[in-house]
Amino acid sequence: MRLRFAPSPTGYLHVGGARTAVFNWLIARHEGGVLVLRIEDTDRARSDDEHTQVILDGLGWLGVDWDEGPFFQSEGVERHRADAYRLLADGNAYRDFSDPEAVRVEAQERGMHPSRVAREQMQALGDEESARRAEAGEPFAIRLLVPDGETVFHDLVHGDMRFGNEDIDDLVILRSDGTPTYNLAVVSDDAEMLITHVLRGDDHLSNTPKQVLLYRALGHPEPVFAHVPLILGSDGRKLSKRHGATAVGDYAKEGILPEAMTNFLALLGWSPGDDRELMTRDELVEAFHTDRLLKSASVFDTEKLAWLNGQHLSRHPDQELVGHIRALLDHEETFRRDLLDDTAWVGELLEVIKPRARTLDELADQARPFLCDELHFDEKAVAKHWEKDPASAMERLEALIEAFEGVEWSRKALETALRSRAEVMDVGAGKLIHPLRVSLTGNMASPGIFDVLVMLGRERVASRMKGGVARIRGR
Ligand code: GLU
Repeated sequence: MRLRFAPSPTGYLHVGGARTAVFNWLIARHEGGVLVLRIEDTDRARSDDEHTQVILDGLGWLGVDWDEGPFFQSEGVERHRADAYRLLADGNAYRDFSDPEAVRVEAQERGMHPSRVAREQMQALGDEESARRAEAGEPFAIRLLVPDGETVFHDLVHGDMRFGNEDIDDLVILRSDGTPTYNLAVVSDDAEMLITHVLRGDDHLSNTPKQVLLYRALGHPEPVFAHVPLILGSDGRKLSKRHGATAVGDYAKEGILPEAMTNFLALLGWSPGDDRELMTRDELVEAFHTDRLLKSASVFDTEKLAWLNGQHLSRHPDQELVGHIRALLDHEETFRRDLLDDTAWVGELLEVIKPRARTLDELADQARPFLCDELHFDEKAVAKHWEKDPASAMERLEALIEAFEGVEWSRKALETALRSRAEVMDVGAGKLIHPLRVSLTGNMASPGIFDVLVMLGRERVASRMKGGVARIRGR
């Protein structure tokens, strides 16, 4: 099996393109086939190197690797042109000398497709006259001569597809300036690269009968086609910027893990055939068979992506998570990199914070109070648990400073100390825990308070509590 991913570098790598890439990659890896990367840069005005780089980076991030390429479509222009002239020589294409605007007007008046007007003119002109005018240097475009009948091909997703040839225009394959058009370039390249399977988005389905006609006219075997359905937003409309992030790079920045994104994209139009959703890359490669490509449009559900991400995150090896956390906290002035050397402590910290994070960003946020000496105080938490009743908040923090002095530094002993102090003060334990949590983490919410105490250790706890009292007094 030889497959290809053929992005046009006219924009970033969007979710639809990434899904196409992932599907082709998974099939290639499942089947032990070859994946070719081809950058379709023939639209020079809209293509640029920066987009190419963004696409390559996006593929790299997703872990989509290719076996051949990247090839650039623009490098094949001579071959595309030669193919157009071969079709002309074989009588499968014809020269069109007409003025496009005049043809358009005539076609409109007569209710015909412009290419059929061009065909009539070609027939009226005759072969000899056509050759003579070309030799005389008159500019012309080359159009495919669509035969009568029907074009039928098999699609792995949609089954047999039939198109009446009367509805297919004699497409221009070489413009009068000598540049090949899109459909010719794609067919010429896919044939040259011996592509056996073309999997791409549904939006290309209307091009396929034209491409099939080109394969046949050029005498190349046709590949197997699979057109995967559109991706919709949660409102049922075609996924677009309106739905938020659509560039793969945005998800990387939001702390989505590449394997979660790959897992998520794989399920947009494919199913393993059982009720599994959470799958590793290896499991996807193992299960990804074209038999289970789905016909119905799939919905881009960001909640599901977040859920999958949380699941992948919690299965991630500690070392990798630490690497991400380090990168995300690196700009913090009081970041205690030294603490990361204590692998036992780090392992415990991850156990405590992982269940509370669905993305890497959230993981870093959760880790911050434990790894940075300076706290970011959440204004709401401060207002609610300190400022509403500052005298009580101070009194309670001071009581806890005392209660924790000399106590064994374990969850159990700390909990006993806190609860008995609450009893003595005749308040619920929460009344002590809330101001304490703000002083230790700066936040309204955190992992269980006794986990927080143990992870921070006696000294940092004491100094943060004292810092808290001073802060409240200073306000
Ligand atoms: N270059 C086309 C695109 O980015 C894909 C062409 C194809 O897959 O045949 O939409």
